[in-house]
Amino acid sequence: MDSSKEKEEEKPKCVRVHGPLIVGAGPSGLAVAACLSEHGIPFVILERSDCIASLWQHSTYDRLKLHLPKQFCELPLMGFPENFPKYPTKDQFISYMESYASHFTIQPRFNQTVQSAEFDPSSSFWTVRTQDFEYISRWLLIATGENAEPFIPKITGMEMFQGPIAHTSVYKSGSDYKNQRVLVIGCGNSGMEISLDLCRHSATPHMVARNTVHVLPREILGFSTFEIAMALSKWLPLRLVDKFLLLMTSYILGNTDQYGLRRPKTGPIELKNAIGKTPVLDVGALAQIKSGKIKVVEGVKEITRNGAKFMDGQEKEFDSIILATGYRSNVPTWLKSCDFFTEDGMPKTPFPNGWKGENGLYTVGFTRRGLLGTSFDALKIAGDIADEWPTIKESNSHIILLKVLIDPRNYEDFCKEEKET
Ligand SMILES: Cc1cc2nc3c(=O)[nH]c(=O)nc-3n(C[C@H](O)[C@H](O)[C@H](O)COP(=O)(O)OP(=O)(O)OC[C@H]3O[C@@H](n4cnc5c(N)ncnc54)[C@H](O)[C@@H]3O)c2cc1C
Repeated sequence: MDSSKEKEEEKPKCVRVHGPLIVGAGPSGLAVAACLSEHGIPFVILERSDCIASLWQHSTYDRLKLHLPKQFCELPLMGFPENFPKYPTKDQFISYMESYASHFTIQPRFNQTVQSAEFDPSSSFWTVRTQDFEYISRWLLIATGENAEPFIPKITGMEMFQGPIAHTSVYKSGSDYKNQRVLVIGCGNSGMEISLDLCRHSATPHMVARNTVHVLPREILGFSTFEIAMALSKWLPLRLVDKFLLLMTSYILGNTDQYGLRRPKTGPIELKNAIGKTPVLDVGALAQIKSGKIKVVEGVKEITRNGAKFMDGQEKEFDSIILATGYRSNVPTWLKSCDFFTEDGMPKTPFPNGWKGENGLYTVGFTRRGLLGTSFDALKIAGDIADEWPTIKESNSHIILLKVLIDPRNYEDFCKEEKET
């Protein structure tokens, strides 16, 4: 075969998207898709995995339940089934999202990893490339999540350790660690819950608390702590809300500093709003810390062949290490020539204005406000696109025709999709 023909065949097929292109079929992608369908706007969703909500289906541990009460985790336009408990399990949440996708007839294109996306000012369209196709759309809706890639820190000596080192994204259950001495690095919600799970499976966890952390009870006097904070912050300055929460916390949980969990100087809600650091909502780990079953240790100085040396000079042996070190957004790795995002892959414009960029760029689920933030974004975006949809719909075909004239390999897809729409 001559090389020009070969090269031609290597070029990805071009797909014109009639309506917005959504990247990511997690809760955020599904939410914005549902809101668009309510306005009668067609869309295409690209998902790198083989299922919806892949973070929940593939990368979470068995004992996970929603951290917040269900009313704060509903996606727009369709609530949870009434028989769900206050804190739905991971499986219940997944089944809810499956019903949600089927109710709104959302059918993502699976196994499509977006490798690059770039705005072309000459045509006013976004060109989005996956391993198989080139998609062209007027709108790019980024729903790839704040937790797209596990964050693996570089710790001196890590490569020396003889046992397994796993990130929480692959941790399923403590049954895999029965009777083991496990070093859990990180003391956020995942680090605390996994340490608790390890205890329940007769493992001995040591949890590293290098940074300060706010541990709050999940409920205060039968009301969710989050719900109380939300209600109070409507009437009171955040500082006073935090004062109240910390007063109640010290009454219910005692002084957590004495167990090695030092509190930040800034209050929990103020801190969450300022830098997105989520407080830990205790579901039982603190009782295990108090009883000595979970040992809290200071920062790791270095990992050794058989364990770790700590900042306070102690050295201990471990069978396994679990990295509860969180996740990162992956947007900067594939979004080209666009300065809407920080180096960490979060919108530069803070909440509540980070959902909309320029040239038809939108972001869903990057507010550091969990699923509540997702709903807010999804409704706003769909409303915004709906406002311009009637005019754009008219002009769309002409611009695409121009694209076909410039690059005739687009013609086949263009005709096929024109017939479908
Ligand atoms: C353990 C854990 C517990 C949590 N509990 C709660 C809770 O109780 N309440 C709450 O409100 N929030 C909770 N969260 C936060 C949680 O991340 C969000 O609520 C929710 O999953 C965010 O949805 P999302 O769609 O924005 O992101 P994700 O769920 O991460 O979905 C993003 C999707 O984009 C896909 N994707 C990524 N990159 C690409 C690419 N380049 N090309 C194509 N597809 C791509 C991913 O495969 C994924 O399916 C929790 C998070 C974790 C990790």
